[in-house]
Amino acid sequence: SLDRVFNFAAGPATLPENMLKKAESELYNWRGSGMSVMEMSHRGKEFLSIIQKAESDLRALLNIPEEYAVLFLQGGATSQFAAIPLNLCKRDDPVDYVVTGSWGDKAFKEAQKFCKPSVIWSGKSEKYTKIPSFDGLEQNPDAKYLHICANETIHGVEFKDYPTPKNNDRLLIADMSSNFCSKPVDVSKFGLIYAGAQKNVGPSGVTIVIVRKDLIGNAQEITPIMFDYKIHVENNSLYNTPPCYGIYMCGLVFEDLLAQGGLKEVEKKNIKKAQILYDAIDESNGFYRCPVEKSVRSLMNVPFTLEKSDLEAEFVKEAAKEKMVQLKGHRSVGGMRASIYNAMPLAGVEKLVAFMKDFQARHA
Ligand code: PMP
Repeated sequence: SLDRVFNFAAGPATLPENMLKKAESELYNWRGSGMSVMEMSHRGKEFLSIIQKAESDLRALLNIPEEYAVLFLQGGATSQFAAIPLNLCKRDDPVDYVVTGSWGDKAFKEAQKFCKPSVIWSGKSEKYTKIPSFDGLEQNPDAKYLHICANETIHGVEFKDYPTPKNNDRLLIADMSSNFCSKPVDVSKFGLIYAGAQKNVGPSGVTIVIVRKDLIGNAQEITPIMFDYKIHVENNSLYNTPPCYGIYMCGLVFEDLLAQGGLKEVEKKNIKKAQILYDAIDESNGFYRCPVEKSVRSLMNVPFTLEKSDLEAEFVKEAAKEKMVQLKGHRSVGGMRASIYNAMPLAGVEKLVAFMKDFQARHA
């Protein structure tokens, strides 16, 4: 609408307008309950209906098998960097990490406190622009799991398919924070999937963990109770007070994704948006450049630089004037980054592409 900007932020990020409006209409008095979702007991029947529907809609969206638990937790994806080794490893267990960007690196570093992780592949020397070929990956058969970051938010590299874990338990674990629910995923290929909500599915404060139930119950003794999956599974994410309002918002977004026809349809839209943006970059005769290898370019986060890097600040400023905001790249890599999550409409990407062409014509 007229008073909204196109928000290309990496997260917290833009949310579906229709669901914001719905939340607005329910803010003061949720469906005749006489109170806001923010004011409800997390143990009351109203909130229970909200969290149960959120879970069942998410299960429908991702086709999550019965053998997996779905948890709505707090602490961000960052907490999971510790919770995963604490729950799935003993202190001396080896684990394998493929590091395709800053987030995978952070996950690896945190795991060093709780198990014995190795980086079996790192894209750092190539500035995190690639994903390794799976054939060449030397995995440790004794590793407890293989960890990947399915989409690196800062560097814009995304796994298009997934490596087969060669460890004894065949466990693959993925941080899907920045591409969660952007496309269908075969959950049964994973031991555990985790994601912060604040990119594709809701506000910050909710962290979703999808974990195979048979992996639960072996947490290290030092595991804080809030990090113990068993506690959260046994209590249906209600061991303590959950982020109620955030879970409610995620539920609205899941409803919206289902109404759009599910993740296959959502993926089609995401492919189209990414395509026109990457095309604009690639067809700019080098005025714009995306450093990421073509086959692994992210559908969600599109980093690009300007050949004339001194124009970058001007680009961001002029775009903001036209109500396209948050286009500055992450401070660690510079340049530009357009995050085009599910809720970014095609019209937003089209407007950005038109602006890029115009900017180039004026500055080439
Ligand atoms: N993993 C990825 C891929 C991310 O993009 C982020 C946040 N940008 C995180 C982990 C950390 O998430 P949080 O801030 O929710 O802890």
